[in-house]
Amino acid sequence: MDIRSLFPILDQTVYGKPLIYFDNAATTQKPQSVIDALNSYYTTLNSNIHRGAHYLAAKATDCYEQTREAVRLFINAKHSHEIVFTRGTTESINLVAASFCQRFLNNGDEIIVSGMEHHSNIVPWQLACERLGGHLRVIPFSDEGILDLNALENLINAKTRLIAVNHVSNTLGTINPIAEIVKIAHSHNIPVLVDGAQSISHMAVDVQSLGCDFYCFSGHKMYAPMGVGVMYGKEELLNEMPPYQGGGEMIKEVTFEKTTYNELPFKFEAGTPSVGDVLGLKAAIDFMNLCGIDNIAAHEKMLTDYASQQLREIEGIRFFGVAPHKTSVISFLIGDTHPYDVGTLLDKLGIAVRTGHHCTQPIMDRYKIPGTVRASFAVYNTREEIDLFIQALQRIAPMLQ
Ligand code: PMP
Repeated sequence: MDIRSLFPILDQTVYGKPLIYFDNAATTQKPQSVIDALNSYYTTLNSNIHRGAHYLAAKATDCYEQTREAVRLFINAKHSHEIVFTRGTTESINLVAASFCQRFLNNGDEIIVSGMEHHSNIVPWQLACERLGGHLRVIPFSDEGILDLNALENLINAKTRLIAVNHVSNTLGTINPIAEIVKIAHSHNIPVLVDGAQSISHMAVDVQSLGCDFYCFSGHKMYAPMGVGVMYGKEELLNEMPPYQGGGEMIKEVTFEKTTYNELPFKFEAGTPSVGDVLGLKAAIDFMNLCGIDNIAAHEKMLTDYASQQLREIEGIRFFGVAPHKTSVISFLIGDTHPYDVGTLLDKLGIAVRTGHHCTQPIMDRYKIPGTVRASFAVYNTREEIDLFIQALQRIAPMLQ
């Protein structure tokens, strides 16, 4: 299968050069099948879901609920009502931070996050802590970018209410040992939330074998449209948690005296969801299943090993995140040059990378750097593109030092 040809956006030039898209950790491009799913929804099916008495509403509802089942299978959740559709990882984490903390966090309690979290897995907990009088504790990590699990054991105490960590760091690429973290946490009866934004498109995710209590991810980082994401939560916990937002589909009965709430998952899906984007997510899951997640992982590993090996030849290069278990994210600096200068010059050669703090300012503080240049690969990238990237850096490096 010629996977690349399924992505129309890649077939273009920028500044007269063929586009090389290495900004996949920020968002992936979309295959034609996902674009077609959106188009087809709006040309043949558009209708508000649930409770509709007519043909289009019933059909749109069926397709929406089929996607929920497809997501359940994709991450091997036990029940489809444990799958809640959101706008993305950030909204999923905010949902849990607001609702879980309202129910379980009391004055003086603690939430543990890691030092390598995206701001989306820090700030929602800070907001909840500010509101309810809680405190954040932080798991440190080594120079290589590996979490210190001994430190985690020492951070846990009788006041710990939840541990929130990413499966994969968007800046360092480290794959964190989630099953091990869950084991430690559960031995103290502490639930674990996993930010899966950077893992979901790169490896098989099985929430039951990981054992985590919440798993959050965004569609747009796994070949699906922007505007849709998932919050998986274990039924027992979701049943205990209050609604996040009010209105629309989340109610059972409303009176001015008292409102009762709908059952799972609708309790957490207030208002009209982004139905077309949800259907696009189904097409993206179909695409990933067609490729095979293990094939995707193997291809990306080949690209990452190939790129890392050649990058080592660039004079003055410094890598950030060299853990043995990594996804296809490479963060680096060339000498003391500012990452933005490298990114801008690469851009003029048609190569899209991300520069800056990648919404992980605490990581930058940890290494005392302003930011990094980040190249991140997806299933459609090629060795030839990496060759051009290396040639470009070889040209750029001497100009900047
Ligand atoms: N967590 C991680 C690890 C991420 O990489 C990102 C996106 N950069 C997010 C959370 C937030 O995702 P979104 O913007 O799609 O909500």
